[in-house]
Amino acid sequence: MSKPSNIAIIGAGLVGSLLSIYLRKRGYQVTVFERRGDMRKKGAEGGRSINLALSNRGIRALEEVGLAEPLKKVAIPMHGRVIHDRKGNLGFQPYGKQGQYINSVSRSGLNIVLIDEAEKLGVQFLFDARITHVDLEKTSITISRQSATGSGQDVTNFDLIIGADGAFSAVRGALQFTDRFDYSQDYIDHGYKELTIPAGAGATFQIEKNALHIWPRESFMLIALPNPDGSFTCTLFFPFQGNVSFDKLKNDSDVHQFFAETFPDVLKLMPELLKDFNSNPTSSLVTIKCYPWVRNKTVLIGDAAHGIVPFFGQGMNAGFEDCRILNELLDQHQENWTSVLPAIQELRKPDTDAIAQL
Ligand code: FAD
Repeated sequence: MSKPSNIAIIGAGLVGSLLSIYLRKRGYQVTVFERRGDMRKKGAEGGRSINLALSNRGIRALEEVGLAEPLKKVAIPMHGRVIHDRKGNLGFQPYGKQGQYINSVSRSGLNIVLIDEAEKLGVQFLFDARITHVDLEKTSITISRQSATGSGQDVTNFDLIIGADGAFSAVRGALQFTDRFDYSQDYIDHGYKELTIPAGAGATFQIEKNALHIWPRESFMLIALPNPDGSFTCTLFFPFQGNVSFDKLKNDSDVHQFFAETFPDVLKLMPELLKDFNSNPTSSLVTIKCYPWVRNKTVLIGDAAHGIVPFFGQGMNAGFEDCRILNELLDQHQENWTSVLPAIQELRKPDTDAIAQL
């Protein structure tokens, strides 16, 4: 495979955007296709977590493209977990030695920093451009575009296609039609719903700012991560069905009673609980494994290759690590993609399987 002069990245999420920066910095011509509108103009779409835990693995990948410092300025350090029991007693579990911490960052804020930086370097982003088909032999993509002036379809050839289009990847869909492609998708019994603890008077934090809060309740839990405006985004991880489940919370009085009994200290802090509970979606959680990640001149990266449930807060961090390691391999193999593509999947598959198993 000769050095690709024209690379398509499918997906302007966290991983696709970061990878575009790495590749552009190496001198490649990169076009990123994103099925959603430009979040800088339209605002971020709901449905995924509002904030994320960014840890050392992810920071290292950002550091290498010069973005760790600007991001640290908008990140909130979380030095450990504050555990809330049913009576409202608090315990503290540090994440590491003194001075060590993980960070709470806004998903859309981080994504926008990455897209802005990539554009500044010369990456071309095409929004409202959904990839509907990938031809693995011709290395071409079919792009379905929606705009105010109409819709249309184009087929474009590239030298390399990178599928960074997330857990429900269309690029992976093309690989699934090839011989001896392994694929598994496992939904867990729990789903999640996001709720909010708003800021107190004067944008103050109503609970400890520099911590990840957890209300563990044996088979389910509530967590809360701080936001720069003083609010906390809370996520209830909860079974879909069973005696204690989303299924059983049928009306406002069920929800109120459940929170009063299970999370009494939170109820006082969530004046909009019922509104949030009714309007925010209940989303599912899935682990996705597949192999190989490479066919001809098409490769998968990030959640498209290895989607995991969020309990370790490592999905994005692992995707960022994919980008850093791909960049290292390009150095090691003097830009020879014929050796880099098999090397990335061989190196990363055991590690991403391990975090999925954990
Ligand atoms: P995505 O973020 O899914 O981005 C894929 C992009 O591709 C999207 O913009 C999508 O619109 C676009 N796309 C999809 N299909 C097409 C198509 N056909 N054509 C064009 N574009 C397309 N990870 C952490 O590290 N820390 C955390 O604390 C954490 N918390 C999480 C909490 C929750 C509730 C969930 C669900 C996940 C969490 N994760 C966390 C995981 C993290 O969100 C993912 O690992 C990360 O978003 C993966 O990035 P990605 O770019 O690979 O995929």
